[in-house]
Amino acid sequence: MIRRWPLWEVPHRLAVSVLLVEATALGLVIAVAARMPVPEPFQLGHAALLGGLGILHTEIALGVERVRRRVMVGNHANLSSVWTFGGALVLPPVYAAAVAVVVHMHVWARTGRPRVPLYRSVYSAATIVLACLGGAAVIGFLGSGSEPLTAAGIPGITLALLVYTTINTGLVAGAIAMSAPQPDLARVLGRLDDNLLEVATLSLGALTAVALVVNPWLVLLALPPLVVLHRAVLVHHLEEAANIDGKTGLLNAVAWHAQAERLLQRSSRADGPRGVLVLDLDHFKAVNDTHGHLAGDQVLTAVAGALRAEVRERDLVGRFGGEEFVVLLAGPAVGAAVELEAVAERIRSRVAHLRVEIPTPDGPLTVSGLTVSIGGAVAPAEGADLRTLLQIADTALYAAKKAGRNIVRVGTPPGPVPPVGSRHGGEQAPDAGWLVDGE
Ligand code: GH3
Ligand code: MG
Ligand code: MG
Repeated sequence: MIRRWPLWEVPHRLAVSVLLVEATALGLVIAVAARMPVPEPFQLGHAALLGGLGILHTEIALGVERVRRRVMVGNHANLSSVWTFGGALVLPPVYAAAVAVVVHMHVWARTGRPRVPLYRSVYSAATIVLACLGGAAVIGFLGSGSEPLTAAGIPGITLALLVYTTINTGLVAGAIAMSAPQPDLARVLGRLDDNLLEVATLSLGALTAVALVVNPWLVLLALPPLVVLHRAVLVHHLEEAANIDGKTGLLNAVAWHAQAERLLQRSSRADGPRGVLVLDLDHFKAVNDTHGHLAGDQVLTAVAGALRAEVRERDLVGRFGGEEFVVLLAGPAVGAAVELEAVAERIRSRVAHLRVEIPTPDGPLTVSGLTVSIGGAVAPAEGADLRTLLQIADTALYAAKKAGRNIVRVGTPPGPVPPVGSRHGGEQAPDAGWLVDGE
């Protein structure tokens, strides 16, 4: 049974770190419990109230949370922090840890399929336990007397909040960094939105803690705003999920089209689109055949990351389907052809140098020697129609494939030519396109 745990399938150093964090959490709880004065019965009541509300919250938001887990991408804030952080501020640390474990295991048991592996839930419970101990230590250190929370005041609560979120985010980020094939900072640290949500959740947790001190029944008032927040988060996730390709995190084809159309309509000559690039990985079927489909997926993710890294924030990068990608480059029309070709060439070269490390139970597997063929279309000076641009780029891509792959070809549409770029082959004669780099 133990031998078949999914934990043994993750990279060795990740499994060791997970076990280390869990052992530390357990060890600290035991150490703190051993030195703890006998708690008052009302403290047990407070812990039961927070744990009970955590369970009630999970039950109320069950439908929302199940959908959220299915659609969300990447790291996400955990809304049950309201109860666990609230507990960290007012309960004896061991009770706060117990609330965290109860609430987390209940979430794990109830949020259904696809169920996250138990080791991941135990790990996040352990990180929350450590975060609770950290937050509680701050309050214990700064607060004094019978009401340590109010004695710690706003600076104390803010510091506890920072310590709590730093411990939790840091440990989760560490695990993601160790399990992602090519971790990037945004993925590891989570996006700004998620972090703001975390701060909102923890602030509500602090108010819950204050309510608990003033009058335990006031804590019930935290439930309605939390449920509404939970729903709002789901709407946000759904909006995002509708636009994002789950495998690569890039825009999906429909969203890319819609946004590209909008950009083309809105843009002026001074800051319009320079053109589009259509990319197709060469002999990608061979990658799947050699390393398996799952490795192929990770390669697609890595290529998407490389693509994103070579263009600017405002350029639109999308996954067109399969192993095909598309980019709309924004910027002034002047010099567009040179710029477009330079970007395409940088991408081609970056993909050719890409080494994708894929963790497997037998150690990391490195996939390299990837190549991509790229077809480009320079936007005409007087404004472009997306369909025409895509047709030209597609024809240029076909020409690049025919010419031997790992090649950039750029075409210009008929009509007024932008100031630079007259050297390129047009739609009618894609094979006359300028060969930038052969194999
Ligand atoms: P070419 O150089 O002509 O483009 O060769 P190719 O093998 O890349 O082209 P082809 O279109 O014949 O095959 C595309 C392959 O991409 C086939 C399919 O298995 C693979 N593929 C498409 N989508 C995915 C995906 O989401 N994940 C994985 N792993 N493979 C995919
Ligand atoms: Mg293809
Ligand atoms: Mg291909």
